[in-house]
Amino acid sequence: MTTTTDQSEIVIIGGGVVGCAIFRRLAMLGLRPLLLEAGGDILSGASKGNSALLHTGFDAPQGSLELACMQTGYREYLDIKDRLNLPLVESTALVVAWDDEQLAKLPGIVAKAHDNNVPDVRQIDRADLRQREPHLADHAKGAVLVPGEHIIDPWSAPLAYVKQGIAHGGEVRRRCRVIDGRQQGGSWRLETSSGPVIARCVINAAGNYGDLVEAICRKSPFMPPNCSRRSSCRSRPSAPKASSCAARLSAICWSGRQRKIRKTGHWPRSIKQPCSI
Ligand SMILES: Cc1cc2nc3c(=O)[nH]c(=O)nc-3n(C[C@H](O)[C@H](O)[C@H](O)COP(=O)(O)OP(=O)(O)OC[C@H]3O[C@@H](n4cnc5c(N)ncnc54)[C@H](O)[C@@H]3O)c2cc1C
Repeated sequence: MTTTTDQSEIVIIGGGVVGCAIFRRLAMLGLRPLLLEAGGDILSGASKGNSALLHTGFDAPQGSLELACMQTGYREYLDIKDRLNLPLVESTALVVAWDDEQLAKLPGIVAKAHDNNVPDVRQIDRADLRQREPHLADHAKGAVLVPGEHIIDPWSAPLAYVKQGIAHGGEVRRRCRVIDGRQQGGSWRLETSSGPVIARCVINAAGNYGDLVEAICRKSPFMPPNCSRRSSCRSRPSAPKASSCAARLSAICWSGRQRKIRKTGHWPRSIKQPCSI
């Protein structure tokens, strides 16, 4: 699956679903990306064990990047699934109210879904719920029906992304943990557990470890105050502060402009915030 190159235009750190999806896209643009994964294989982090829901974003914070990512990903998955032979179970989802307090909140959930541009979400009564799910406990009071929520396979999609990326000239290196990095001319020199890698552009897709990777080049907003910035990718000193979503938000491109950031430890006003992928 891998060949050895020590120099690359663009490196992605982390082979979870996010890194694999970025890898596929960049490879299809002809950029020959290099994906570095610390684990023995791709999906060594959260992506290997999630609940497999393809979310509509019906309950995501309105106007958030999380919502935009969910809905773009949702559309893209439906668009490419047949070409990549990816599974989809059109399961629908139910948000069940188990008491009067929860029942009173259902209209708000429906309203939020409509605001989030998921118009087919609707409230159903107890009789309808029982007909759809006869094995639910008797005290279920009603539910919100989310027809567009589906089940996918968390493994086959990222695997297909990586295979397609490799077929388009990308490269994957496993057992390759990024430990440190510094600017060298107009490029980055990354120190990894299997030797140095030179890259012009680096993308952080390290999931719950995104804060530690980010701390290589700047003070991470997710870093515990007493945590050392350097060499912190080797181990996590305390429980992760960043949720996977927050880490995804922190997906950044490190470019030549980072030199200034490393000096100051924060983003100067004149420099654009990290570009999200
Ligand atoms: C229990 C659970 C259920 C979930 N259910 C759902 C769901 O139903 N639907 C949904 O959409 N989302 C769900 N999620 C969220 C979803 O799984 C995550 O948002 C997603 O997997 C994050 O992917 P990622 O690629 O950002 O991170 P990860 O999958 O964690 O990938 C990060 C990768 O980076 C690698 N890495 C870390 N540090 C380094 C380094 N220094 N050098 C090289 N590589 C490194 C790691 O080994 C890892 O493979 C769930 C999450 C959990 C925990």
